[in-house]
Amino acid sequence: MIAVDGFSSCGKSTFAKEIAARLGYIFIDTGAMYRAVTLCGLRAGVVSARGIDREGLVALLDRIDISFRFNSERGASDIYVNGECVEREIRSIEVSGCVSAVSSVAEVRSRLVALQQQMGKNKGIVMDGRDIGTVVFPDAELKIFMTADPMVRARRRYDELRAKGEEISMEEVEENIRSRDIADQTRAISPLRKAEDAVVLDNSRMTVADQMEWVLERLRKMGVCE
Ligand code: C5P
Repeated sequence: MIAVDGFSSCGKSTFAKEIAARLGYIFIDTGAMYRAVTLCGLRAGVVSARGIDREGLVALLDRIDISFRFNSERGASDIYVNGECVEREIRSIEVSGCVSAVSSVAEVRSRLVALQQQMGKNKGIVMDGRDIGTVVFPDAELKIFMTADPMVRARRRYDELRAKGEEISMEEVEENIRSRDIADQTRAISPLRKAEDAVVLDNSRMTVADQMEWVLERLRKMGVCE
């Protein structure tokens, strides 16, 4: 079990996906699960930029069935809600703007954490998120805590969103990253923090290849790969 936690837009998913591909492990993006619940909440009118109808959101949870299906073109799994692929919709700035509030609701967390523990019970998993090494799999064999300069993160997320055709300014992206960092670190339940036994990876000035070299060295020492 490899846990990859850290700040928003650090490239956790890219990194975790690459590790999984190298090891033949399954990659699970837990942020996508919180985003999927947020999308359902927005569609049902119980989540908006003005706030959350907590009772309405909790009642909705029973009607949300989340699953992943491997997409060979992308080399990763797409997320489905009640049979609908929502991989694209969950990355919108509207969802990004509400997801931290949704993820601070206790019932949302307990539901998704249980699902994540179920998905990871057979190991051979690389899971990325905010609380994987601290709450979901505190016994993970390798825990990585990722961080990067906020300006570098904003630029990466901006380029990614623009490439997908989203009309967004650099200021909006910076503000979204800043507010999610604060919300994720200060929420009462499972706040974002480094597990004591996690190794820190600051990738501000590292390419994906550099990061892979860094992690493979560790995995070799652990006897996980050649
Ligand atoms: O990783 P990503 O940026 O897609 O995650 C979206 C949001 O979901 C985060 O800002 C955080 O609020 C929430 N999240 C969480 N716990 C996780 C994964 C994501 O609270 N394990």
